[in-house]
Amino acid sequence: MNISQNLISIKNAIPKHVTLVAVSKTKPVSDIIAVYNAGQRIFGENKVQEMVEKHEQLPKDIEWHMIGHLQRNKVKHMAQFVSLIHGVDNFKLLEEINKQAKKHHRIINCLLQIKIAEEDSKFGMSPDIASGIIQSTQLSELKNINIVGFMGMATFTDNKDQVKKEFDVLKRTFDQLKPLQAFNFNPEVISMGMSGDYKLAIESGSTMIRVGSSIFGSRNYLKTED
Ligand SMILES: *Cc1c(COP(=O)(O)O)cnc(C)c1O
Repeated sequence: MNISQNLISIKNAIPKHVTLVAVSKTKPVSDIIAVYNAGQRIFGENKVQEMVEKHEQLPKDIEWHMIGHLQRNKVKHMAQFVSLIHGVDNFKLLEEINKQAKKHHRIINCLLQIKIAEEDSKFGMSPDIASGIIQSTQLSELKNINIVGFMGMATFTDNKDQVKKEFDVLKRTFDQLKPLQAFNFNPEVISMGMSGDYKLAIESGSTMIRVGSSIFGSRNYLKTED
């Protein structure tokens, strides 16, 4: 199958309430255009510079999602156009996003990344820290951000029981924190699930899946893995 057929078969297989982010990191603009022409408008990248370059070259109705680990000093480069930042894992980063969003008279949508994987290498905050941030008076000063939900990454393993358990943690976190009240906390997104585990993620309550290799084919890990 070619990449536009891959896209269409995944779109047809997922429920309507689940948003598909096509993860185009390391892939050329020509591949993105093929998927765009098949109807996809939401693309995810994990490096700011790469996303900026692709944004410049591609149609302006694409919604760009930053899905990778984000350094504060990179926020300014994408503040003008990014439509959702998935991996917000500390308050200082929220402050920086707010500052840069304000410069562009925008409100930037963010997801708080929750650490759900057992392995140590994955970024993210605990549900308690997230809860504290949402209820803090400092958050109420950030008028140019909108926290629209949570993101998580499961452990990279074939053990489906473990992955399921980790997805359940994110769903439970969403359900527990959802009632918290803040003008800039409007949770509706649970971002979890990638090529290898998106079906399980949807069964566990995911509303947004981030799929790369199942659409675009495998990446060249030797040269380009982050
Ligand atoms: C690369 C990446 C994905 C997509 O991974 P695939 O296995 O290729 O679908 C999803 N989420 C994040 C955060 C990523 O970095």
